[in-house]
Amino acid sequence: MEKEQLIAEMKKIVGEDNVLHSKEALYAYSYDATPGHLYMPDVVVSPGNVQEVSAIMKFANEHKIPVYPRGSGTNLSAGTAPLKGGIVLLMLRFNKILDLDLENLIAEVEVGVVVQDINDYVAPHGLIYPPDPGTVKTASLGGTICENSGGLRGLKYGITKNYVQGLEVVLANGDIIHTGGKNVKDVSGYDMTKLFTGSEGTLGIVTKAYLKLVPKPEASASMVAVFNTLEDAGNAVSDIIAAKIIPATMEILDNASIRTVEDFMHVGLPVDTAAILLLEVDGHPVIVADEKEKVMEVLKRNNAAEVTLAKSAEHKEQLWTARRMALPCLAKLRPTTFVEDATVPRSKLTDFLKIVTKAAKDYNVTIGTFGHAGDGNVHFCVVRGNRDEQTWTTELHQNLEKLYAKAHELGGLISGEHGLGTSKRVFFFTQTAEPNIKLMNAIKKAFDPTGILNPEISYSRS
Ligand SMILES: Cc1cc2nc3c(=O)[nH]c(=O)nc-3n(C[C@H](O)[C@H](O)[C@H](O)COP(=O)(O)OP(=O)(O)OC[C@H]3O[C@@H](n4cnc5c(N)ncnc54)[C@H](O)[C@@H]3O)c2cc1C
Repeated sequence: MEKEQLIAEMKKIVGEDNVLHSKEALYAYSYDATPGHLYMPDVVVSPGNVQEVSAIMKFANEHKIPVYPRGSGTNLSAGTAPLKGGIVLLMLRFNKILDLDLENLIAEVEVGVVVQDINDYVAPHGLIYPPDPGTVKTASLGGTICENSGGLRGLKYGITKNYVQGLEVVLANGDIIHTGGKNVKDVSGYDMTKLFTGSEGTLGIVTKAYLKLVPKPEASASMVAVFNTLEDAGNAVSDIIAAKIIPATMEILDNASIRTVEDFMHVGLPVDTAAILLLEVDGHPVIVADEKEKVMEVLKRNNAAEVTLAKSAEHKEQLWTARRMALPCLAKLRPTTFVEDATVPRSKLTDFLKIVTKAAKDYNVTIGTFGHAGDGNVHFCVVRGNRDEQTWTTELHQNLEKLYAKAHELGGLISGEHGLGTSKRVFFFTQTAEPNIKLMNAIKKAFDPTGILNPEISYSRS
């Protein structure tokens, strides 16, 4: 179909103001937070209600036009890169919190709402919506649902899939369906809510969700522990869990990350140390007081050189901001940052951190490693120079493949929370058995027979 005709049809559905097609606008939606993936779409369309989404999908399906749903574009696996042109479907006009049901502790929320705004809305009622990716202040609810995002509180509170109870979804052919809802229990038929959660925009357009809320913990205590070896930090993580304490948060930063964060933020992190752990315990004040002591004891038993409790709410905020800034700070070092995302069993965390540290030396690159230590979810970030040099891109890819293979050998997988997108799916195939891949392809075909929804994220090896 001619581009001009596509633009005209989209304007008929959503109105002139909600269609972008200037070169500048298309460029702005040609990439996301993932380096090295820039492709121009034909048009950017912002629907304002579910009927408009349905009409767009019917049209796109009939004319086999690729559709790339997009929230805030902060994903790290090129999940919104419009490789085949077509429509970028911008969901940010779905920006309303529709209902807060305090009897059932459920919020009904449109997908364009930013995650932090959900928390700000429910906080006066003593409630929280726990999933909290590093991008909590920018990521859209729809993006976090479709990536099944985790975050800093994942260890104790779980991840997005644990809080999405129901969805409204527009299928590739324009049909509107509803899954789950306010009921806590629901085993009627397949669990479609879970299938869409983490589907990376390949199975349908999510427009609305029913979210489970939980009471805000009455008290919390945050602390930072300094370690001179990675082994001690890793052992402390395992020992805390073995002591049957589940902190709300248990995050690790290696030396490269500590130095970079301190350089940019000046929060007093110890730059000569091998690793720090940032921890928070929360709950009833009596339990927090008890767990705080126990955690400090385990940290010291594992040779923590120093353990400091956050002295005030400001100090606490400063520590967690420092952690959230690890990636943005590393990204300031060089023009290009590749943020990788592997999981390993918690007990193998130290082994994997040592492998990454050695790789940085062997490959002569800066790799900053940080992550959700309690979940065994490690982000190793390779900072590099000019992103257009084909040679080092190829070389980098080979080296990353080796690191993902090591994580797999240790019992882990690619992607604890950043999805596969277009940039990580190749690594996934080396870790996944053929029958699984066939089944995923069959599911994709059943939902999207013409293959228009985020077509690059295919589960075919070709
Ligand atoms: C500095 C930084 C820190 C981060 N920290 C974390 C972290 O701690 N934990 C974590 O899990 N992630 C993290 N991320 C990754 C990212 O922020 C999350 O994946 C986030 O959920 C993406 O939300 P978004 O609105 O930006 O989605 P987008 O990037 O716009 O989209 C993500 C995917 O969902 C699809 N999609 C979006 N909206 C819809 C919809 N309505 N219907 C269907 N499909 C849709 C897109 O096609 C795409 O495949 C981080 C990223 C950065 C840059």
